[in-house]
Amino acid sequence: MNVVSRFAPSPTGLLHVGHARTFLIAWWNALSQGGSILLRLEDLDRSRCSAEYSDACHRDLEWLGLTWDGKSSHQSERSDELRAALEELLSREMVFPCVCTRSEVQAAIAAPHAEDASAVYPGTCRGLFSSLAEAQRVSGREAALRFKCPEEELRFKDGLLGDISLSPKSDFGDFPVTSRDGHPAYHLAVSVDDASQGVTEVLRADDLLTSCGPQAALQASLGLPRPNWIHVPMVMDSNRQRLAKRSDALSLQAMREAGVDPKILVRWLSHSCGLGDLGAVTPREALPSYELAKLPLQPCVLPHDFLSKLCAGELPSKSPA
Ligand SMILES: [Zn+2]
Repeated sequence: MNVVSRFAPSPTGLLHVGHARTFLIAWWNALSQGGSILLRLEDLDRSRCSAEYSDACHRDLEWLGLTWDGKSSHQSERSDELRAALEELLSREMVFPCVCTRSEVQAAIAAPHAEDASAVYPGTCRGLFSSLAEAQRVSGREAALRFKCPEEELRFKDGLLGDISLSPKSDFGDFPVTSRDGHPAYHLAVSVDDASQGVTEVLRADDLLTSCGPQAALQASLGLPRPNWIHVPMVMDSNRQRLAKRSDALSLQAMREAGVDPKILVRWLSHSCGLGDLGAVTPREALPSYELAKLPLQPCVLPHDFLSKLCAGELPSKSPA
């Protein structure tokens, strides 16, 4: 099978060193199998996306030495396919209207999980309304559509993490397929886009592991193929916090503007991926050394002296264990 992978950043902020590492691994993994990789900008949330970030994303990837097949695409270009998928889910009664606000969902979630952002929707509106129009008339609010999550566990083999099992009840629940203003939501867009673009391999950071649940449910319902999933450890700062898109000092744009040699960054990233010290290299020069099996399974923690050493063209000291 011909491997087709993808970079799928959302242009809601600047790419940082965490994106660089995940994209580099995705690129190596696709090319090492003789496959190709696409660039798709996930720009459905128009209020948070900007052309400026989209441009920066292209420049950052080019600066790093990563290439992609053909022209980049934008998720917002495929709204007809997304509409058709939504119509199908509606006509088969696989979704239901939900008029809950975000804070109502939070409040309804049992106390032990209240601070857990990934806590699942408690099913408040399931079975309450017969149609979107009725939900809106009765509640006087706009309604989102949520997918009726299946009962059975989802089991699959992750290309790096091995056997994974997700429980709909505790891991993802009835997830939204549209926002309350009617726009297609993340899981639907990703599932439809991946199928439409012939994506066979999805390599992304492991904070997205539970999104396999909703995506597998949608793929099964819509008759879409399931790609091979590979979830790689995230990059964390020296305080073991996940990198925010706002941590501008660690953005690729800031590094580029500070005159960092991208080959030094690739040297460090290669080292962090278990490929050893390859010296200053381009992604392509490092490709022969790449093996997914060499990738450490623990998070990649940036050492304190990451930026200063990188700017000096040196390999940062080993991260504290
Ligand atoms: Zn609801």
